[in-house]
Amino acid sequence: MSSLRHLRQCHPAGIAISHYHTSSRALSKQSYKVLVLGGGSGGIAMSARLKRMVGAENVAVVEPSEMHYYQPIWTLVGAGAKTLASSGRSTSSIMPSGVKWVKSKVEEINPETNTVRTDDGSEISYEYLIVALGLQLHFEKIKGLPEGFGHPKIGSNYSVETVDKTWKALQDFKEGNAVFTFPNTPVKCAGAPQKIMYLSDAFLRKFSAPKTGKRAKANVIYNTSLPVLFGIKKYADTLWDIVKTRDLQVNLRHNLIEVRADKQEAVFENLDKPGETKVFEYEMLHVTPPMGPSLVIKGGPLADEVGWLDVNKETLQHNKYPNVFGIGDCTNLPTAKTGAAVAAQSAILGRTISRILKNQIPDKKYDGYTSCPLVTSYNTVVLAEFDYNAQPLETFPINQAKERRLMYYMKADVMPHLYWHGLLRGLWGGPGPYRKLMHLGMK
Ligand SMILES: Cc1cc2nc3c(=O)[nH]c(=O)nc-3n(C[C@H](O)[C@H](O)[C@H](O)COP(=O)(O)OP(=O)(O)OC[C@H]3O[C@@H](n4cnc5c(N)ncnc54)[C@H](O)[C@@H]3O)c2cc1C
Repeated sequence: MSSLRHLRQCHPAGIAISHYHTSSRALSKQSYKVLVLGGGSGGIAMSARLKRMVGAENVAVVEPSEMHYYQPIWTLVGAGAKTLASSGRSTSSIMPSGVKWVKSKVEEINPETNTVRTDDGSEISYEYLIVALGLQLHFEKIKGLPEGFGHPKIGSNYSVETVDKTWKALQDFKEGNAVFTFPNTPVKCAGAPQKIMYLSDAFLRKFSAPKTGKRAKANVIYNTSLPVLFGIKKYADTLWDIVKTRDLQVNLRHNLIEVRADKQEAVFENLDKPGETKVFEYEMLHVTPPMGPSLVIKGGPLADEVGWLDVNKETLQHNKYPNVFGIGDCTNLPTAKTGAAVAAQSAILGRTISRILKNQIPDKKYDGYTSCPLVTSYNTVVLAEFDYNAQPLETFPINQAKERRLMYYMKADVMPHLYWHGLLRGLWGGPGPYRKLMHLGMK
């Protein structure tokens, strides 16, 4: 339970923050040419790129967590297809060599003075700032959470503390409702809340005889706040076919507001009829928490009116402070928040900063590329890829709206490799160049 209490203060990836540089609370002064805030996907990718541009000794990364996780694989961890251990590596092992790791938490950013204050009282000044703080999970916005995770039958693939609980709940499933939720906020990887539903359905079918087994005794229910199943029509059409064929119940505009974990009940509000609620008993509940901007950015000088980092959608340069840049989930880039988007953004942002360092105008434009491998079973994936205009931007010259085994292999085995050895080393900037090749220069 104590680790669950941590979830209230946990950082965006849900990792409890326990190890800080607390040896000295004396105010120390540090200064770097390039300061990167956050050592997640975007922060490490950019520090590797900047190291090549300005030299390792001129780059520092502020990141409190001892462990770095490849979050996209948690979808498979929650379904028992991968282990949690396989998703994490120590932060020290992925930090580019020679780059300074400041093991602290950022508390305040002062772009007027080009300084950042950390939780140990230090002030760090910079010439160029790259903000990669991710987003904030808000389990506490649902009544009964995060304490409810102390009970069985409930899990969430969205944090390191709760992802194994999903797998436990699935294995323990006997009969009744398996309920999956999507909150009334932007989320990272908008496909993940339903991927675990498809996997759970497949698990219950796979390990039980047809008609007599567990699946026959299960109602698989997806309660989503959204008015659609998925935002891009081409892929949504396939997903609607799948939910119909597999007898999965989808309730649109249903928002989880309370969990009574002791009674195995989940309360949803009908967003089209505010105030009207409905209670679902559950034998298994997967919660996708509400999410929001990093609290370090929200309300500060770098935020837009909602609280996201306010950057130019083509160059990723801050709209007010030209020596500040942003990448990933913390930004207000109007595209789906994913690691795939981070990869494409890292190439553009690398180019933007290299031009600015030479007093040149940024020339490459981010097109909003993002991707979501929609896992639909233990061996199939629909690989959604699209841009700012919500238009498919597919890498392969085949119809990616079809469920394919090849794409599952990509998701489970190729993408983790690209992440650890490509993106985090600043060598993978998304599939753009390959897409051109595969489409013979036509895309
Ligand atoms: C269950 C799940 C499934 C997903 N599936 C996919 C998928 O299939 N495909 C895909 O492309 N993406 C997927 N994603 C999304 C992907 O993981 C994120 O979009 C990506 O990690 C965003 O990178 P980021 O650098 O912006 O944020 P993060 O990688 O979350 O990094 C943010 C970093 O900032 C640090 N931080 C936070 N606050 C502070 C502070 N105050 N001071 C210092 N450091 C701080 C954190 O410790 C963290 O290391 C999935 C995510 C989840 C949870």
